[in-house]
Amino acid sequence: MTRWRFAVGTDRGLVRATNEDAVHADATMAVVADGMGGHAAGEVASAMAVATLVPAFHADESVDGLVRAVQAANAAVHTDARVDPDHAGMGTTLIAMALTADGNGRVVPTICNVGDSRAYQLRDGALRLLSRDHSVVEEWVRMGRLTPEEAAVHPRRHQLTRVLGVGAVVEVDLDSVAAQPGDRILLCSDGLTNELDADRLATLASPPMPLEDAAASLVSAAREAGGHDNISVVLLEFDEVDEAAHPIHRTVATAPEGQQPRARRRRRMRRVTWRSVGAVLLLGAVAAGVVAVFHWYAYASYYLAGDRGVITVYQGQPSGVLWFHPRRILETTYPTAHLRPVDQRALASTIAEPSLDAALNYAAYLNHAWHLSRSSVATATTTTTVVGSTTTSTTTTTVASGKG
Ligand code: MN
Repeated sequence: MTRWRFAVGTDRGLVRATNEDAVHADATMAVVADGMGGHAAGEVASAMAVATLVPAFHADESVDGLVRAVQAANAAVHTDARVDPDHAGMGTTLIAMALTADGNGRVVPTICNVGDSRAYQLRDGALRLLSRDHSVVEEWVRMGRLTPEEAAVHPRRHQLTRVLGVGAVVEVDLDSVAAQPGDRILLCSDGLTNELDADRLATLASPPMPLEDAAASLVSAAREAGGHDNISVVLLEFDEVDEAAHPIHRTVATAPEGQQPRARRRRRMRRVTWRSVGAVLLLGAVAAGVVAVFHWYAYASYYLAGDRGVITVYQGQPSGVLWFHPRRILETTYPTAHLRPVDQRALASTIAEPSLDAALNYAAYLNHAWHLSRSSVATATTTTTVVGSTTTSTTTTTVASGKG
């Protein structure tokens, strides 16, 4: 038996006209959703996602049931956004913790995440981040381009790489959580984490402060720190915890019914082939699978390089993989001559990007950085005289303050 107690809090903050966050907590599910979209459509997206997710999960409290519930939530928001012109382009983040039955008579906590709302675990006064933000700056931190400190103040820190309801298919991170009785879990929107640092969160959310008071003090502390965005928290405390038999850590793509991801269909077909034709064809399928994996790897990412005097976007690996050569996707209008020396050197050795959008965004950013560096001669001089790897960070900070 796994049991928790919970407290929730949500607040419009001091700047935003409406509260586009949605929160929910009950005996087996806790959710924070941070909606986005014009004309208060963000409010619709987050509320609709929660209203669809919760009953769908309660109808089947397994991990598969959780995936189907997220799928239903994505489909509901996506469909409404397509049907209602006022809701076009709306979407929402989703961070949820669910108590899922694992088929061995155990009920274990499972986190599912899309976007940049977060889940933290609190034990002995220490705070541990359980979720990974799906944002451009988080990708850059993982690629080593930014430090976490730089990411926290980066002008593009709000730009998400995954949002629920924007596409017919959404990728969801699922993670089992190893909890102990007494552990607390904090689910929150970025309106909390952008105002308060990790130490502050840990202090406010930890025992001996009772759960309700802790949730309320987190919200009011974020308001006092500026309240620039909607602030939402769900604080859970475990009274009893089953041990997970088979912890899960995976990313699944969810699609509306009838549009299952291709990988799953292919696996089913392969099983039929095995039964009817036998091992020879299976070997063929395995070989095809290996080629498919190489193909996927070869074209999974993008990079920027200079070509004919402009920044150009390629799909693939710069040196190719097997016989899969990189594809030239498009030329930007940004001249390579209009780049800071440090960026020209980076471009010469190619700059990897996780997606086409990220590649285009970064090309624009490089060009913008050059204009900023030219508008401030003093800064440009300092920048170029800084030695080695510190050059990039100095310049990034300059751009951030220039924009802010
Ligand atoms: Mn927010």
